[in-house]
Amino acid sequence: MKIAVYPGSFDPVTKGHLDIIERASALVDELVVGVLNNNAKTPLFSAEERVKMLVDVTKHLKNVRVEAFSGLSVDFVRRCHAGFIVRGLRAVTDFEYELQMAQTNRSIERGIDTIFFTTELNYAYISSTVVKEVAWYGGDISGFVPPEVTEKVYEKIASRKADGNQGG
Ligand code: ADP
Repeated sequence: MKIAVYPGSFDPVTKGHLDIIERASALVDELVVGVLNNNAKTPLFSAEERVKMLVDVTKHLKNVRVEAFSGLSVDFVRRCHAGFIVRGLRAVTDFEYELQMAQTNRSIERGIDTIFFTTELNYAYISSTVVKEVAWYGGDISGFVPPEVTEKVYEKIASRKADGNQGG
């Protein structure tokens, strides 16, 4: 059984992520989307919220499972009994970091290979960070994130702004 893990922050999931999930899931028996619960980053959405959104947008893919994890990706990959890590490459800027991560992971765990997908040209410029920035200033994000996610981002940002104002 071929199992792969697609780890990331997915804060929030974008159309670019979904494209990778669809293409990667077609190659393996099971794809586990691992939602990183990283203490070093302050996410807009909690890990549970990110998992829920991913479950929602991948419900048409029967061999995709979504799970939150913390700690090292390779440890999570091992726990999933997976042999592959899936990552997306948007531009040259992604390359250096991704190559370093893939080599590090392979030196920690020789049984794990990283598979890179080149991103769909239409989505190559999309990042979760840009989505949050555009939404913060009231721009249209419907072209960047799946329809189920759009309103959730606006609502979350509105509540963040309200919290900020309350705090002075
Ligand atoms: P991380 O914080 O691990 O970079 P992200 O959620 O930003 O997590 O990205 C997870 C993976 O998805 C990375 O491999 C990244 O290169 C890829 N990715 C990010 N944005 C896109 C996109 N627009 N199209 C395809 N892949 C993407």
